[in-house]
Amino acid sequence: MEQRTRPRALVVGLGISGISSALALHRAGWDPLIIERAPERRTGGYFMAVFGSAKKAAEDLGIGGRLVDHRPQETMTYSIDRDGRRAPGRSFADIPVDPYLTMRGDVESAAYDTLIAAVPDVEIRYGTVPVALEQDERGVDVTLRSTAGSETVDHVELVVGADGVHSSIRRLAFAPDSVALRPLGSMICAFALNDDLPTLPRGISASLTEARRSFHVYPFDDRPSTVLFSYRTDDVRAEMSVPPADRLREVYGPRLGPVLSAAIE
Ligand SMILES: Cc1cc2nc3c(=O)[nH]c(=O)nc-3n(C[C@H](O)[C@H](O)[C@H](O)COP(=O)(O)OP(=O)(O)OC[C@H]3O[C@@H](n4cnc5c(N)ncnc54)[C@H](O)[C@@H]3O)c2cc1C
Repeated sequence: MEQRTRPRALVVGLGISGISSALALHRAGWDPLIIERAPERRTGGYFMAVFGSAKKAAEDLGIGGRLVDHRPQETMTYSIDRDGRRAPGRSFADIPVDPYLTMRGDVESAAYDTLIAAVPDVEIRYGTVPVALEQDERGVDVTLRSTAGSETVDHVELVVGADGVHSSIRRLAFAPDSVALRPLGSMICAFALNDDLPTLPRGISASLTEARRSFHVYPFDDRPSTVLFSYRTDDVRAEMSVPPADRLREVYGPRLGPVLSAAIE
């Protein structure tokens, strides 16, 4: 029987946290096994500002050299109204600590490439979720279920729940979502644009702020901007059951104006 020299850790979730955890565990002498519910890597995302502590963590993990700051060389920040009228404004690009302005997918790729370079044979099982944990003094027996419905029981010495805000590991080991999650009464809808917005040439950062709702445009040096809609709501759960574009038209309407219309289209 093959003798394992490193203790085994199960990392649940192949997002930025899961990949970073696997890297850190490998460095600390562990053998990470990663499972991911999706059938493949989730490479997409939206604007992300990487601040000092995240830059330091990335450097410590060896990811730092792969992170690129995509702030536009020439950028202006405006506060805008519905008709696109501008006044001077402030955004992430104006923060003196110079965060990297990038997208979630770029950070994910940087972390993933670093992991594969450091641990070329790292085991990643896609389409796999944990369904039961049984802990004893030797570690944890984890029942894993594949999308096809087959189940295996893996013995590990450590389980890391990096499976996002609706974590199944938190549910299995600690508390149901009804206890662990507290809705904050806000929704965010963020996405990357295919084209530049009317009245806002590439490189322009903009914010529209109104009572209970706001809209932000985050520009980059090499691609169209990402946008973020943020609004107050009394029922976060109900928001998930409506097509996002319909809901945005309802919340920000009826008179959207050219910029919001184009962003939602
Ligand atoms: C609009 C917006 C802007 C943001 N801006 C910033 C910013 O500027 N700076 C910043 O630092 N952060 C920012 N964040 C937060 C940041 O994007 C997230 O905190 C981060 O991406 C979360 O990464 P994660 O790996 O913890 O979780 P996730 O990215 O959610 O990854 C979890 C992974 O686990 C998988 N998974 C889920 N359930 C299971 C299961 N049962 N079994 C197996 N796998 C499972 C999922 O498929 C997913 O791949 C922003 C977030 C949003 C929404």
